[in-house]
Amino acid sequence: PEEPGAPNQNEDNLRSPICCIMGHVDTGKTKLLDCIRGTNVQEGEAGGITQQIGATYFPAENIRERTKELKADAKLKVPGLLVIDTPGHESFTNLRSRGSGLCDIAILVVDIMHGLEPQTIESLNLLKMRNTEFIVALNKVDRLYGWKVCKNAPIVKAMKQQSKDVQFEYNTRLTQIVTQFKEQGINTELYYKNKEMGKDTFSIVPTSAISGEGIPDMLLLLVQWTQKTMIERLTYSNVVQCTVLEVKVVEGHGTTIDVVLVNGVLHEGDQIVVCGMQGPIVTTIRALLTPHPMKELRVKGTYLHHKEIKAAQGIKITAQGFEHAIAGTSLYVVGPDDDVEDIKEAAMEDMKSVMSRIDKSGEGVYVQASTLGSLEALLEFLKTPEVSIPVSGIGIGPVHKKDVMKASVMLEKKKEYATILAFDVKVTQEARELSDELGVKVFMADIIYHLFDQFKAYIDTIKEEKKKEVAEEAVFPCVLKIVPNCVFNKKDPIVLGVDVLEGIVRIGSPICIPQKEFIDIGRIASIENNHKPVDSAKKGQRVAIKIVGFNPEEQQKMFGRHFEMEDELVSKISRRSIDILKANFRKDLSVEDWRLVMKLKTLFKIQ
Ligand code: GDP
Repeated sequence: PEEPGAPNQNEDNLRSPICCIMGHVDTGKTKLLDCIRGTNVQEGEAGGITQQIGATYFPAENIRERTKELKADAKLKVPGLLVIDTPGHESFTNLRSRGSGLCDIAILVVDIMHGLEPQTIESLNLLKMRNTEFIVALNKVDRLYGWKVCKNAPIVKAMKQQSKDVQFEYNTRLTQIVTQFKEQGINTELYYKNKEMGKDTFSIVPTSAISGEGIPDMLLLLVQWTQKTMIERLTYSNVVQCTVLEVKVVEGHGTTIDVVLVNGVLHEGDQIVVCGMQGPIVTTIRALLTPHPMKELRVKGTYLHHKEIKAAQGIKITAQGFEHAIAGTSLYVVGPDDDVEDIKEAAMEDMKSVMSRIDKSGEGVYVQASTLGSLEALLEFLKTPEVSIPVSGIGIGPVHKKDVMKASVMLEKKKEYATILAFDVKVTQEARELSDELGVKVFMADIIYHLFDQFKAYIDTIKEEKKKEVAEEAVFPCVLKIVPNCVFNKKDPIVLGVDVLEGIVRIGSPICIPQKEFIDIGRIASIENNHKPVDSAKKGQRVAIKIVGFNPEEQQKMFGRHFEMEDELVSKISRRSIDILKANFRKDLSVEDWRLVMKLKTLFKIQ
């Protein structure tokens, strides 16, 4: 078997494509990974499959062996396939390289019994954002009622063994899911009918991660698709392309970084630059490590050391100064002709592009995520027009006291933004205590949507509270006309039938008579529509209103003496009442109502 770390190169000079697995929780991502790895790895009987740092390597030989039954005479040109071990989009968002996706292809897992789910759509959006090709594994076909197991069989063969009922259910569900994808703007088709490959139509492979049906098809498709459509991308190059997956403290090695070497070669002793929280980190590779291939010999903490490693590979690197390294950024090698300063600048580019997404106004929430990649995905999401939440600060890693302090700045500016959205990170005990003490809200989730839902619910309650607080002072605009023969009481209180000519009449609104030098006649105490009490009435409605005086000590103005039948009753607005309306009730007023506010503003000569 091939040594891990040995150059996995071939005559076409292609590197192994890198693949990651995405999809909604419980669709079978982990199981699928276990299934394609088989038992080989666990039993130390390599079968060519090697466990790497953060990834599993499948040599072409292994894939050829497992896809024999498909009679694919197509030559495998790539040396193998590198599958990232941690499924889900935390790792995907992390897998970036110079602004673009690092994964060459993704497997998007969909449960055939459930169809598209929220995280499927979230994954789709990430794939679109990074322009990453993918195939759909339509998993759990064995759950179709009456499924006859055909262990590890190609899907067409397995399907032929099934009853008419199973085939019918399968086709129905497949059609529904194709439609659901279409609703997301994605064309999909069963892989063996999709001859175009990657030309706007994505392939679906039905699979079972339990009994293995469709797994040969999936492996072959991954390899064929990548080598057919990505020759240029997969051509081996000497330029190092390498991404930091994780920053980890390892006993005996200090802070190490786990990387995926996408292209090029790394050597012990290479001078490298990585992006750090406190600026670029320039250091020298002390050791290049991979796990020991024979698991039973592996003692905790022992790794294989390599003088050099060629792409594509998952590697652990040890060196000085990795303490503040940021996962999800690119690693650069300083070549003999390179200027270190240029490389330092390039290494910080990733961080800069994220920093540029912070709101310039200085008002917004504080966002904390586990890696630069997930932070970027979250910022992207918060920016979409449907969400539109401004961000004033960012952080990577666990939420500490200093992050709470930074978020608390908003308490004075805009209370609802004194909030930390913590994505896939822990919150330290001290940070939690401090946030409780200061009144900084911390929301935690590992699904972007959930974070948004929590924040949205919080904002809505704050808005409702605010509305209640200022309800007394908010004056909705209205113009009322007294209905003849409907003066029920002339004063203390005034009771009238009115037509709402314009706007909205609401309980609490102060009323005056513009024609009579803006004389105040009182405040609306109650409204009745068809003898039923209501809180408000709109333009076009005829209602009875009761108006009480502002001050019980004073005599109220009187119908017939201070104002007449033909006088219009108008809500009395002020500069302050307009400001309150704008800040809290913007959406409660129609465009026409706002026009009336402007008209009254002129009438009352408000600046
Ligand atoms: P993940 O959250 O996407 O990683 O999902 P898991 O791999 O943990 O699988 C979730 C559950 O579905 C587990 O109980 C699996 O055993 C089960 N499961 C996964 N794939 C299949 C499949 O193809 N068929 C059946 N019947 N169950 C599956």
